[in-house]
Amino acid sequence: MLSIEEALDKIRASIKPLASEEIFISDALGRVLAEDVTATLSHPPQAVSAMDGYAVRASDVAEVPATLTQIGEAAAGHLFVGTVGPGQCTRIFTGGALPDGADSIVIQEDTTVDGDQITMTEAPKHGAWVRAEGLDFAKGRTLLSSGRLLSARDLGVAAAAGATWIRVRRKPRIAVLSTGDEIVMPGAPIRPDQIVSSNSVALVAYADVMGADATSIGVAADKPESLRERLKDAAGFDMLVTSGGASVGDHDLVQSVFGEEGLELGFYKIAMRPGKPLIFGHIGDTMLLGLPGNPVSTGVTAAIFMRAAIEQMLGLAPKPMYQAAKLGSDLGPNGKRLDFIRAYLAPSETDLPTVTPFDRQDSSMMAIFSDADCLIMREIGAPAAKASDTVKIVPLGFSSRQF
Ligand code: AMP
Ligand code: MG
Repeated sequence: MLSIEEALDKIRASIKPLASEEIFISDALGRVLAEDVTATLSHPPQAVSAMDGYAVRASDVAEVPATLTQIGEAAAGHLFVGTVGPGQCTRIFTGGALPDGADSIVIQEDTTVDGDQITMTEAPKHGAWVRAEGLDFAKGRTLLSSGRLLSARDLGVAAAAGATWIRVRRKPRIAVLSTGDEIVMPGAPIRPDQIVSSNSVALVAYADVMGADATSIGVAADKPESLRERLKDAAGFDMLVTSGGASVGDHDLVQSVFGEEGLELGFYKIAMRPGKPLIFGHIGDTMLLGLPGNPVSTGVTAAIFMRAAIEQMLGLAPKPMYQAAKLGSDLGPNGKRLDFIRAYLAPSETDLPTVTPFDRQDSSMMAIFSDADCLIMREIGAPAAKASDTVKIVPLGFSSRQF
C-alpha cells in the first residue's frame, strides 16, 4: 500500500498542465494565469490630486499667508488645459489630473477665498497630496505571474493595468461516473433496494469548487458491459472519476473491466482511512481516478487526490496539505492506516483554532461530513492524544474563488 505522499507524487508526476485559452478579464475569477500580466498602463495613469483643494507651485506658498490667483479648475475627468505660472493656482478635486506647472496641493480647509483670490494659510510640502503618476505601479511592470490563481483583487489590479483579454489554463474536463446496481440518479423513482447516487451530485460540485468543469455521465451497473458502455462516454474528457466498485468484492469491477480496456495502472490502494481502495491510471488520453463509493470516502479522497490532479492540470504549485489546530477533546491511539477524522473548528482571535472530532466516524455518514469544517489527520501508529495537543488538519472549506 502506498502512502498518501507517494500517491500524490505519482499523480503529480504523470500530469502536465493543460493548454491555455484567452478569456475576458471579468470572467477570470478563480482561473489560473497561463501568461504573465504586464501593465500597459501606469497607475495612476497621470499625477492626480488625493484631496479637494488648490493646485499650486509649492515655492509660491513657502511663506504664508500667500495669496494666489485662481486661473481655472481641474475636476476628476476634466483636465485643466494650460499651465499654472508663478502666483497662480487652480481649483482641484480628488482624482483631478495635476495641471502642468503645479506640483503640490493645498487642501481647501487651509484656504480663504475672495473671488479668484485664494489665500493659503498653510505651506504645503513639495508634492503634498499629489499621487504621482505610477505611484502604485508603472507601465511595463509584471504584476501577476503565470501560475497564479486569480482572486477578485487580482482582477481589479489587472483591469487597472489595462488587461482585457488574458491567457489562462483551460479548465480540466471531468466526467463523473457512479457505479453500482443499487444506485439511481437523483430524482428517479427509487425501489426499496436502491439508494440515490449522491456522489453524482457531490463529485461534480467538488470538481467545480476545485476549478474544473465536471459533468455526470450517469451510472454504470455492476456488469462488465455496462462499465464498458459508460467508458465510451468518457472519451475526450481529461479525467474520468468513478465512485464505487473500486474494492476487491465480487461486484467491484472497475479495475478488472477497465484493465481489459487498456487501463495503465499507476497505483491501487492507499494506506488511509477512509479510502483504502483507490485506483489511479490512464486509459488512452483520459486519466482515471477510481474512488471508493461510500460518500464520505469519496469526499475525503476527492479532497486529497482529485484536488491534486486538478491543481496539477491547472499548473498550480502544490500547497502544504495540513494546517495546525489545538485538540478540543482526547483522541485514542491510531492503527495501521493514516486516519482522517471528521471534525469541527472553533476559531480563536489569538491562538490556533480548536478542533473537535465528531463522535461518530462511519464513512457513510454524510450529515456529519457536511457539518465538518476539516479533517484531523492521525499518523500511522500515532499514540493517544490529549485535549489541547497540537494536531494537523485538512481544511474542507477551500475554493478556487478567492477574495
Ligand atoms: P462500493 O465502493 O461500490 O463498495 O460502495 C460502497 C458503499 O457506497 C455502498 O454502500 C454503496 O451503496 C455506496 N455508494 C456507492 N456509490 C454511491 C453513490 N454514487 N452515491 C451514494 N452512495 C454510493
Ligand atoms: Mg458498489
